Amino acid sequence: MKKKILVLTLALLITGSSLCSCTQVPDKTSESSASETTTVTSETSATKETVTETTATSETTTAVPNPRDTTPYEQVTLDGVKEHKFQATDFCFLESEKYVLFMEKDIVIPGDFAVNLDAIIGEIENQLGLSACPETFHYTEVSDCVSSHYGINPWEGWDIGSKIPIFLEVDRTDGDQVSSGSMDGFVEIVAFELFSDELWNSVPSYRDNPDRRMDCVDYFTFVHEITHTITLRNYGYLTKITAEGIAEYMGRKVIDKLADDHPSIAEYKEKRYLFDYAIPQKVNSKNAEKIFIGDYHEISHANRGPEYVYGRYLMQYLHETFGDDFYYRFNEKLRIERPHYKSNDYKEEEAAKYAEILKDLFGEDIFTGFGKWCVKKHHLQEKNGVFPGI
Ligand SMILES: [Zn+2]
Repeated sequence: MKKKILVLTLALLITGSSLCSCTQVPDKTSESSASETTTVTSETSATKETVTETTATSETTTAVPNPRDTTPYEQVTLDGVKEHKFQATDFCFLESEKYVLFMEKDIVIPGDFAVNLDAIIGEIENQLGLSACPETFHYTEVSDCVSSHYGINPWEGWDIGSKIPIFLEVDRTDGDQVSSGSMDGFVEIVAFELFSDELWNSVPSYRDNPDRRMDCVDYFTFVHEITHTITLRNYGYLTKITAEGIAEYMGRKVIDKLADDHPSIAEYKEKRYLFDYAIPQKVNSKNAEKIFIGDYHEISHANRGPEYVYGRYLMQYLHETFGDDFYYRFNEKLRIERPHYKSNDYKEEEAAKYAEILKDLFGEDIFTGFGKWCVKKHHLQEKNGVFPGI
């Protein structure tokens, strides 16, 4: 994208005054606080509207008509230049083909942020063979993700059709109940590297611990959470292991795939720290299926981790053993059989259906094969600590 930064639509409040403005900010970023939840519910939206893109010139702020003139909040466009920064000074939004970013005051994003997000969503669709905006999903209005902080819902009544609402939020006290997460109706991201320096320096526990934020955007978190939303929209529930496994696996694959052509994603790839969570029991050919069906359901959300690493290695094994279309095949079967699984109401017979689906697709010995592969490669063999992963 060759557009230069920001620009915004200025719609006016009933009071007639404009509420939002864009500011160029010195290059400086932060990092992610993301602990995430994958609860499931639904919603999203319905009406399609056309977005007027503005051809703004460098460092100018151009007012364009806000296509959603029911709110006073400005529409942001970016110029694609990483070194340029946009800082939100009020609620504002950025609209792309498949998502709308909803931002609040003190969010800072680089000029190539939307380009990278476009590429990420396209690559997740490509890898999984799924649409980010499937026709079969029931869309509702944009979810209310921010009124708990502000006492108002700035996006009330917003309808963005089948686009994914992605909320970029800040934790103003280092203790708010906000964290990154996703549902089928929206994605929420709380990432320290997207907080403004003013906000960061105003909270001692942030300011005094600069290592808490990366100096580049943690695109992994975006891939992970958006993957959840896309799979949920296409066929609903997955087990904890399959849901987190595919999100974690995509987090690696998509970043690796896009790094060559996307400098900021390459920078993240260079700086990221890959690790594996410890697991309570070493995985082998005898227990791999039992563990899969057990889905680590006895482990509390606060102590989650094993499902992420077991699931990611399982996806890696399936990919290496059965080829690039392994997930397409899994999807097709899920679409047809539609198992209904709720991780907060674990039922062994429901979890076992996912094991049966994998066996139908990839052979009765899929889990014994996976267990042997784990032992041979020394994956899922560590019971303590967090250690470097692949
Ligand atoms: Zn997750």
